[in-house]
Amino acid sequence: MSLSEIRTRIAKACDEAGRDASEVTLIAVSKVQPDDRVRAVLDEGHRVFGENRVQEAAGKWPGFREAYDGIELHIIGPLQSNKVRQAMELAQYIHSVDRPKIAHAIARIADETGACPRLFLQVNTGEEPQKAGILPGEADAFVKECRDLSLPVEGLMCIPPVEEEASLHFALLAKIAERNGLTGLSMGMSGDFEKAISFGATHVRVGSAIFGARETPAG
Ligand SMILES: *Cc1c(COP(=O)(O)O)cnc(C)c1O
Repeated sequence: MSLSEIRTRIAKACDEAGRDASEVTLIAVSKVQPDDRVRAVLDEGHRVFGENRVQEAAGKWPGFREAYDGIELHIIGPLQSNKVRQAMELAQYIHSVDRPKIAHAIARIADETGACPRLFLQVNTGEEPQKAGILPGEADAFVKECRDLSLPVEGLMCIPPVEEEASLHFALLAKIAERNGLTGLSMGMSGDFEKAISFGATHVRVGSAIFGARETPAG
């Protein structure tokens, strides 16, 4: 499916939800995609990309930045403490602030450098043991903790469990965001971004629907 088809589907979903399409940012998730596919999307004029792994992002985006102006990079995968600094240097947004330890590491580096990407706090809405994110019951306290650290919290992010109805998770994330006065909602992937938009998504993270199936699996 082409980028313009995805844009059309986003516009239609916004229309049906009574929202303006300018409220929704399309993050093209380029993890594990060959460079020529990424370049094709850059050549179509798209500039907002998401990467799962800091290492991979560091390998490909500095080069693309030399060739294309105005690239905005979003780190969307789980962070190790020792990768936080590199993630902050590379990305304009981090969607996967998933525990206090990472929030404190970001705050320390932001204090030192005077710069910080915009942040989404990841909520483990399905309470899955293997998945990153703060538990829903601890989310309010985590938002407060991040604000007390003066972190630029833009909103919340979730990845619904694959076997469950995503709507329930989108609604839960929207509710937690609203009661905390947060407007950003990073939710919705290739299979469910229209549904996410109907629940208020401001950032949809779409990979395979734009680039085609990934050739190797990525977490
Ligand atoms: C890979 C990934 C996506 C994109 O998934 P698709 O199903 O290919 O659209 C979105 N969000 C996160 C966190 C991802 O890791």
